[in-house]
Amino acid sequence: MPRDATLRSDTDAADTHFGYRTVPLGEKQTLVDDVFHKVARRYDIMNDLMSGGLHRAWKNDLVAKLRPPQGDRPFRLLDLAGGTGDVAFRTVSAGGAGTRAVVADINTEMLAVGRERAEKRGLSERVEFTEANAEALPFPDGSFDAVTIAFGIRNVPRIPLALSEMRRVLKPGGRALVLEFSQVDVPLLDKIYEFYSFRVIPALGRQVTGDAEPYQYLVESIRRFPPPEVFAQMMRTAGFARVTATPFTGGVVVLHSGYRI
Ligand code: SAM
Repeated sequence: MPRDATLRSDTDAADTHFGYRTVPLGEKQTLVDDVFHKVARRYDIMNDLMSGGLHRAWKNDLVAKLRPPQGDRPFRLLDLAGGTGDVAFRTVSAGGAGTRAVVADINTEMLAVGRERAEKRGLSERVEFTEANAEALPFPDGSFDAVTIAFGIRNVPRIPLALSEMRRVLKPGGRALVLEFSQVDVPLLDKIYEFYSFRVIPALGRQVTGDAEPYQYLVESIRRFPPPEVFAQMMRTAGFARVTATPFTGGVVVLHSGYRI
């Protein structure tokens, strides 16, 4: 997997978490990249299997909140950690002819799958794929009407940096939407979710991809992600205004929203 050294900033000495493991901050991205490099070709099928297709509904809800304009009015979306392009495809399909999307992701393998899917859907003209690190975006200030990041932010080693980059590239008045897994706090559903996460998902991953490890990381990283109120505060600290958090499916997933004023 070729890597552009300029995309990294591995000089930090502090520790962070990779799932339940404590790792040096500078190592997390490499470990995350290995996960998505391994799963890229089976990523979409595994998403359907693991969520029972629910990820489609969550992404549709995100795009419904985004409300891309109908007609020719230009609307430029940055779908960060956009992987194989799901959110970008949904957004340009929901919007009018003026709606365009850039999918930015650090993983070339995920982007390659995304480009193939765009081609098959006839969306290559409206969706562009770019290799980029969420912590240091290669876009000028104020260049997007909206920024989305779906199931991506928890993988980024320095979340505050990514949030401040998201705000920087938004136009004033632009909106950031962050879709991320969360902790379930509905009695009984929490027990089912726990069992499903730790017993079923890694086993399913092993069955379908031959490797349980990436899926063990997935469920552990969800548990380590800050609760909605803490993440909302991180968004405010990054300078976002009118920050809200909307739980879906009993809190399995939360849609965070904030504006650059
Ligand atoms: N957004 C897509 C979706 O919802 O289907 C993909 C989500 S996938 C769980 C997480 C993505 O985050 C992977 O494609 C991974 O390569 C990307 N990623 C991880 N760290 C990143 C970083 N620092 N900058 C940009 N993308 C990153």
